[in-house]
Amino acid sequence: MASPEIVQCLTRSAMRRGDLFAEAGDAIDRVVFPTSGMISIVARLEDGDAVEAAMVGPAGALGSAAIFGPALHVNTAFCQIPGKVCSLPIALFQRAADANPRLRDLALAQEQYILAQAQQAAACNARHQLSARMATWLLRAADEIDTDGLQLTQEYLATMLGVQRTSLCMAAGQFQEQNLINVRRGRINLLDRPALESQACECYRNLRLQYRRLTPQRDVEVRVAVG
Ligand SMILES: [Zn+2]
Repeated sequence: MASPEIVQCLTRSAMRRGDLFAEAGDAIDRVVFPTSGMISIVARLEDGDAVEAAMVGPAGALGSAAIFGPALHVNTAFCQIPGKVCSLPIALFQRAADANPRLRDLALAQEQYILAQAQQAAACNARHQLSARMATWLLRAADEIDTDGLQLTQEYLATMLGVQRTSLCMAAGQFQEQNLINVRRGRINLLDRPALESQACECYRNLRLQYRRLTPQRDVEVRVAVG
């Protein structure tokens, strides 16, 4: 169980879309656990655009690499889907890992899963069609936050996928005509998961497999470890 000291030092706060958690090069000074909503880790480009490399939802953590020693954020991280987070100073997270070695294993698994997402995103962006990438992204995001209703604009989704908004709107329009999704102001609802899965690229299946391999029981154990 979590020590009273750790529970006392957990900072709980709301996160709104666009809230910045880290910029590339920042020292990691805290671990952030979303309890709802989602954080995106993105590669920022010189023209101001940012393409998503990984998602961190309620089963994950941002900054867990620092459990192994001083570390830096290698990319930008911000709130993609509004929700709530708990934050813990890195020194306390390290102390918790000393008392519970399983937490260290989970932190390693979390970092490996972020790396797996980034590597899959590189292949996906280079080789797969926009409609398949969009289906994959929507399914992954819905899995991360455990809901079929995503509080998300098409503009944000286009940015995350690294495409023009007009291209994204066309692809989303086709999905709406097929009754796969419903797009309303600031919200995308998944209406037919099996059909969306049939449209998704292999990246969705690959990442689900990686998740199961790397993080068995992760969400449950992290919650127990940090309270
Ligand atoms: Zn793909």
